[in-house]
Amino acid sequence: MAAHAQRLVLKFGSGILTNPRGNNLDRRQFTRLSAEVAALVRAGHECLIVSSGAVAAGMSALGMPERPRELAARQACAAVGQSRLMELYAKMFAAHDLNVAQLLLTHGDLDSRTRHDNARNTLEQLFRSRVVPIINENDSVAVEELNFGDNDRLSAEVALLVRAHRLFLLTSVDGVLDPEGHVVPEVRDIKTASGLVRPDKGRLSVGGMTTKLQAAAIASAGGVRVQILNGRTPDLLKAALAGHKVGTVFRAQRT
Ligand code: GLU
Repeated sequence: MAAHAQRLVLKFGSGILTNPRGNNLDRRQFTRLSAEVAALVRAGHECLIVSSGAVAAGMSALGMPERPRELAARQACAAVGQSRLMELYAKMFAAHDLNVAQLLLTHGDLDSRTRHDNARNTLEQLFRSRVVPIINENDSVAVEELNFGDNDRLSAEVALLVRAHRLFLLTSVDGVLDPEGHVVPEVRDIKTASGLVRPDKGRLSVGGMTTKLQAAAIASAGGVRVQILNGRTPDLLKAALAGHKVGTVFRAQRT
C-alpha cells in the first residue's frame, strides 16, 4: 500500500441503496457509489464494503411491495436477494476493471478465534489482489442485523478485524443531528450524544442513529476513525479523505 493510502471500511445501509419504497435496489446509487469506490482504489486505498440491500433485492424478485413483518420471510428475501445484490456489484465494478468478492459473516464468526483468523486471512489476500470485498450478514443463520442494526455493528467489528484506518457509515442523513437539526461536526462523548439523538428511523432504515453511535463507539475505541456521511450526496468520501469537514467525525481513541 502506498504511503498516503489507507484501509477503508465503507458501510452502505439499505436507506441509500434502495428506492423510496424500499422494495428494489436503486441502480443509480450503485453506479455512482461503485465509481467513487473505484476511484479510491485507483488512488491506492484498500476498500472494503459492508452492504445491506439483500432484503430489498429479494422483495423485488419475489414481487413483494411491503417489507415482510415475519422474520423468516425477511430471511427468505435476503437469501433470494443476496445473489442479485452481488450480481449488480460485480457488474458495476467490472466497468472499472475491478473484481468483487462476497463474504457473508455473523457476529458469532467474529467471536470464534479460528473463524476470525480465517476471515482476516481471506480479506488480507483479497486486498493484496486488489479485489473489493463486499460483506453482508449471513441472514439465513443470524438475525441480529435483520432485527436491529442494518449491519452497523457488523461494520465496526469488520473494521477492527482488518485493522482499518477509517470506517465510513453512509446513511440517508447528513450526520448526527443536534436537537435543532444541525449536523454535529464531531462527537467526543458518545454517551452524551446518544441522549440527544432523535428517533430518526426511516421506513427502510433498520438501524437508525442509535446503532450507528454504538458502531462508532466500538470502532473508535479500537483505534478506527469513524465518520457518518450522507450516502446520497456525491463525492463526500473524497472530500472526507481530503480533510474537508463533512458529516460527523468520531476520532480514534487510540492509534
Ligand atoms: N442484511 C440485511 C440486508 O442486506 C439487512 C437489512 C434489512 O434488514 O433490511 O438487506
